[in-house]
Amino acid sequence: MDMKQAEQLYRLMFTNMREALAILHLDVRYPDAHPLVIEMNPAAVKLCRCKSFNFDNCLVTDCFPGWFEADRFRDSCHRLSAFGGSLELGEVSRDHSFYRIRIFALTDNHIGMVISDCTRYREEEAEIAGLTSRLEKDAAAMDRRVAERTAQLEEINEELDSFAFSVSHDLRAPIRAMQAFAEILLDDELQTATERNAYLLRIKTAAHGMDRLIQDLLAYSRVSRQEITLEPVSLDQVVRAAAQQLELAAGGKAYRLEIASDLPTVIGHPTVLVQVVLNLMTNGIKFVPNGVVPLLQIWTDEAQEYCRLYVQDNGIGIPPQHQERIFKIFERLHSMESYPGTGVGLAIVRRAVQRLGGRIGLESKEGEGSRFWIELRRAD
Ligand code: ADP
Repeated sequence: MDMKQAEQLYRLMFTNMREALAILHLDVRYPDAHPLVIEMNPAAVKLCRCKSFNFDNCLVTDCFPGWFEADRFRDSCHRLSAFGGSLELGEVSRDHSFYRIRIFALTDNHIGMVISDCTRYREEEAEIAGLTSRLEKDAAAMDRRVAERTAQLEEINEELDSFAFSVSHDLRAPIRAMQAFAEILLDDELQTATERNAYLLRIKTAAHGMDRLIQDLLAYSRVSRQEITLEPVSLDQVVRAAAQQLELAAGGKAYRLEIASDLPTVIGHPTVLVQVVLNLMTNGIKFVPNGVVPLLQIWTDEAQEYCRLYVQDNGIGIPPQHQERIFKIFERLHSMESYPGTGVGLAIVRRAVQRLGGRIGLESKEGEGSRFWIELRRAD
């Protein structure tokens, strides 16, 4: 290829390139001299502010006003002329587009300048950053879910351990009592008919206690395993049904009941919810000091998606250090003599509320009554 042909080809390339190219001249004799444009390809002319401008020997900073900081640009060009090489000048933003600028030494007093449109890269970078942050969020959500599941499994394992221990311990207590009393009865040396009757009565009481335990355990197992289909449930109806059952369970014991009107509808399960409310109410009228007429107050509080149902009593209260453990199976704070029970009621309540996708909590101080709440999703 001869020089002329090569020159023609280079010019064609220069003219047709998408990147903006400019050739600058620098009078290296004067360190203060600013570079002048002596040649630009059409892509560069398009970017140049002054389209009809005769750019020949025009200052670069006049052709591209605001693109460069004039003195820094001049100094960079002088450095390149002296030492050769190339220099990235960073990115410039113009009319919603982004451009990367690179200058390089051509001859001692000529500098080449390439301006490439990097808007697509920027958009892709932004897209990648968006995707990365979404991935990070998804990964964090996944981590959270794994942690939650692990915590749930750990809780279930712990519960199973204490469940097996408590069941064997609590069920053996009445059996041991029955064995002991039966042995005394078998001892002929004994006793008058009255004494024998007293022992038989104790055996009967122990058997009754064991029956209660087994019934409660079955109720706990039912609420844990039964299939629950969630549906809108009127709390008005739930509380009314629980109040009717409470009247039967109270067996004539006096108490006062104040229920707020127009309780809302929540997402739950009618029979499960009646059992939850009944258990809370039963405790509310049971754990009161002697001589105090129990007062139960029931109302709701609504916030955005959720609704809280409160069951408040005027009873003996629960010290803060015990407020977590009373929800575990067989955990009781009092002797059977002072307050009878099996210690399963609140475990049922907690399990049921979990299965309804809700939460349970309580506020209480010793001697100042207790306020239990359950939080469920609102239906409207
Ligand atoms: P139970 O009522 O059969 O003893 P629960 O599981 O319902 O069993 O309650 C566990 C324990 O929590 C109770 O034995 C009692 O010590 C305490 N408790 C529950 N509800 C109340 C309440 N409203 N006021 C005071 N103590 C309570």
